[in-house]
Amino acid sequence: MIEVGNVSAFYGKHQALADVSLTVARGEIVVILGANGAGKTTLLKVIGGLVKPAPGARIAMAGTNMAGKDLTGMAPHRIVEAGVALVPEGRGIFGELNVRENLLLGAYPARARADEAANLAMVLGLFPRLNERMKQTVRTMSGGEQQMVAIGRALMSAPDILLLDEPSLGLSPIMCKELFQILARIRSSGLGILLVEQNAKQSLKIADRGYLIESGRIVGSGTGAALQQDPAVQRAYLGAGA
Ligand code: ATP
Repeated sequence: MIEVGNVSAFYGKHQALADVSLTVARGEIVVILGANGAGKTTLLKVIGGLVKPAPGARIAMAGTNMAGKDLTGMAPHRIVEAGVALVPEGRGIFGELNVRENLLLGAYPARARADEAANLAMVLGLFPRLNERMKQTVRTMSGGEQQMVAIGRALMSAPDILLLDEPSLGLSPIMCKELFQILARIRSSGLGILLVEQNAKQSLKIADRGYLIESGRIVGSGTGAALQQDPAVQRAYLGAGA
């Protein structure tokens, strides 16, 4: 499990996050819903070590062999070594390299090297389409296929916790559906997934729990089922009354 406590973050004088606390256990999908600019990407960047939190934050692992490990302010590559992998918005893959090369780059962390072959087999089991396209240059692939490469590459680092920033952005409805089904399968393998999504409907359907974020603050939380029924969530994110 990852425990995120009292995270505040600033860009100059602009406060993007205020005292955000949340947890993600292994084997659960937790979704973060919020309007544009609410701070969702910043939150994932803080957890992944790409943005430094203000003093007072504590981000730590619990219940894995990294238990008690304080990740706050660590360099991004060390956070990956501790078992937390980020798939950033825009995917962060290498367009000029092929699928195989992108996936193998994900196995660079020491924690993943010994199991590279088994992890590759697991990723190709989840994404059979990538198996057929191992030599294809990634920039020539569709958005959905590129998202599979990005998630596959993150899984190659053998994470306990996967952070996903708007993975469904720009995907066709069919690809979205497939993506969410795959996330549910990844969960059943025991990973914890923290998912930032603009597709509230699909993401709440698969989420075990969720948090609502507004102007950098957590303003609500609940199980996926409870949030789906919440009138405020329906108004703001599910298009009710629109
Ligand atoms: P979106 O859904 O539009 O991606 P978000 O919820 O992910 O939004 P963030 O990208 O985390 O929001 O941004 C939170 C706030 O911080 C916004 O007001 C944004 O303008 C500001 N911000 C983000 N990145 C920077 C930066 N590098 N420099 C200055 N301000 C930033």
